[in-house]
Amino acid sequence: MDPKQVHPESIAAQALGQVDERTRAIIPPIHVSSTYLRDPDNQYRSGRIYARADNPAFDAAEGVINALEGGHQAMLFASGMAAATACFQALAPGDHVLAPKVMYWSLRNWLTGFATQWGLQVELIDMADPAALRAALKPGRTKLVWVETPANPLWTVTDIADAATAAHAAGALLVVDSTVATPMLTRPLALGADIVMHAATKYLNGHSDLVAGVLVARQDSAYWQALRKLRAQLGGTLGSFESWLLQRGLRTLHLRVRAACDSAARIATHFAQGHAHVAEVLYPGLPGFPGHEVAKKQMHGGFGGMLSIRVKPGAAGGEAAAIATAANARLWKRATSLGGTESLVEHRASVEGAGTPAPADLLRLSVGIEHVEDLIADLEQALARARAGG
Ligand SMILES: *Cc1c(COP(=O)(O)O)cnc(C)c1O
Repeated sequence: MDPKQVHPESIAAQALGQVDERTRAIIPPIHVSSTYLRDPDNQYRSGRIYARADNPAFDAAEGVINALEGGHQAMLFASGMAAATACFQALAPGDHVLAPKVMYWSLRNWLTGFATQWGLQVELIDMADPAALRAALKPGRTKLVWVETPANPLWTVTDIADAATAAHAAGALLVVDSTVATPMLTRPLALGADIVMHAATKYLNGHSDLVAGVLVARQDSAYWQALRKLRAQLGGTLGSFESWLLQRGLRTLHLRVRAACDSAARIATHFAQGHAHVAEVLYPGLPGFPGHEVAKKQMHGGFGGMLSIRVKPGAAGGEAAAIATAANARLWKRATSLGGTESLVEHRASVEGAGTPAPADLLRLSVGIEHVEDLIADLEQALARARAGG
């Protein structure tokens, strides 16, 4: 299959149509070897030496993700965090980097903790504000701009094309955490990003049964080669079985994302309209949402399956009302993470702790692929019982 001649749905459904040449199997085998045979004349013509650096088990998932993102090459990692932190570890101590104030919490903690101690000059800004980005860029000194869009847990939207223009004018790379948008809705590389990152743990795999990360490069570069070397040396490589599961999960990415987007839009609209127990709905698809116009420009086919609701305070306040709502949910599972087939609800401030931008009355919702009316009915009863003190 020529990925340039077919739609993303066809790429995903057939995992690029690859066939195992030796057996004619249409599903790839699980490669588990940790080492590869050297040729008699002392060469390694297969290009593979040892499975910490490279593994044929990566090929199917890397190929599909690269084709969906329209990239030069994809590289799997043992987790989204391993992929994300590699982007910063490939820089040098003293380099200046910009990241959003509102972003995936664990990475923000790593940036302000480990990365800062290690010597990176980390500056957190309002990334959704183009003027704030331009004011913070230090031409020649800023090496990397990190964007997450829509960003956890407020779903803040950043204009990728504009951030790429600004970053490049200052000589910086633009890396986009596109975990929430997925390549089905947004293609950051086509908008000018240098690297796109995903927690493949989430939508790409989609079944909440593995932890994985991936980077995709727009083109080959010294930076990309440094990232390849880092993966091999630091050893944040994905296991063979997880790589195989990921290529399997990817085959239904388009169906899962479409279902989640449709249901999230229905849920957002339902609770946004003057609801008795919901003060505010945060969702990029709502016309009144601050980032809606930018989201319309760079998200195609939906606004994602993630939204947050702010619960109106009951007698004991908004935080108690939000926690009680989650406690009363029967269909929605109380758990962190996102992008699985099952819907999840989470009191985000409890997870993030001190310094979180998540209001205390906020519940983060990851919409799965159940029937949307069941999801709405369950939230309705959970909100009503929380209000009644039950
Ligand atoms: C989960 C997540 C990560 C981290 O991925 P892990 O696989 O959990 O390490 C990074 N960014 C976003 C937006 C995420 O949702």
